[in-house]
Amino acid sequence: MLSIEPIPAFRDNYIWVARNNQRAAAIDPGDAALLLHYLESENLSLVAILNTHHHADHVGGNLELKARFSCKIYGPAGESIPGLTHPAREGDRISLPEIGMTLDILDTPGHTLGHIAYYGEGALFCGDTLFGCGCGRVFEGTMAQMHASLEKLSHLPGDTRVYCAHEYTLANIHFAKEVEPENEALRGREAEALGLRKKHLPTLPSTLDIERQTNPFLRCFIPRVAEAASRHSGTSLTSPLEVFTALRQWKNDF
Ligand SMILES: [Zn+2]
Repeated sequence: MLSIEPIPAFRDNYIWVARNNQRAAAIDPGDAALLLHYLESENLSLVAILNTHHHADHVGGNLELKARFSCKIYGPAGESIPGLTHPAREGDRISLPEIGMTLDILDTPGHTLGHIAYYGEGALFCGDTLFGCGCGRVFEGTMAQMHASLEKLSHLPGDTRVYCAHEYTLANIHFAKEVEPENEALRGREAEALGLRKKHLPTLPSTLDIERQTNPFLRCFIPRVAEAASRHSGTSLTSPLEVFTALRQWKNDF
């Protein structure tokens, strides 16, 4: 049976491992040693690496893992990915029969220009685009690109499980409460996340339903979110993109 497990890496990254019988695929293995240790102790063989974007904390383990397992490496066609064997872009569907997974590629530019996400089997691997109750920083793309990417992800089915690449949920909830102090779902989410982190458990995956109820960056069309962003920026913001831009800048300085 297919299962998806987190390997905590660096300070707050997760390397997600999709495994079935003795085969596995790793999403964004920034650290080869950590993953090798896991694969060996679980007696798993790595068949594929799925990269969302080119940052070192996501691709740092690629070459060592490829040398060891001769695994396929999927990644954004538009970025320089170490050891890339299968360039991927929106519209592509990739099949990993060894672990029983089929995944559709979505272009999600903003954090980086070529950033992609993988969606299938009710799971979304969204890298540094969507986070628990937040979103990635806009490094290479434009605010409009990031906003459009998040909109695209937010329209996937509500029960989609969201596997983000970082454990940022509590800090993001702290910000979200500034934006929407009266959001009840947010308060419930905070209590749950605090409980999980106290036990050193991941707050992820979340679901798109939860994100749509609590993540301010997916709620730019909601009047009270727009009002909070307008108040903070000192201008009257109307379009969801203007609201998103103001929220992202507010969060950058938060
Ligand atoms: Zn990144």
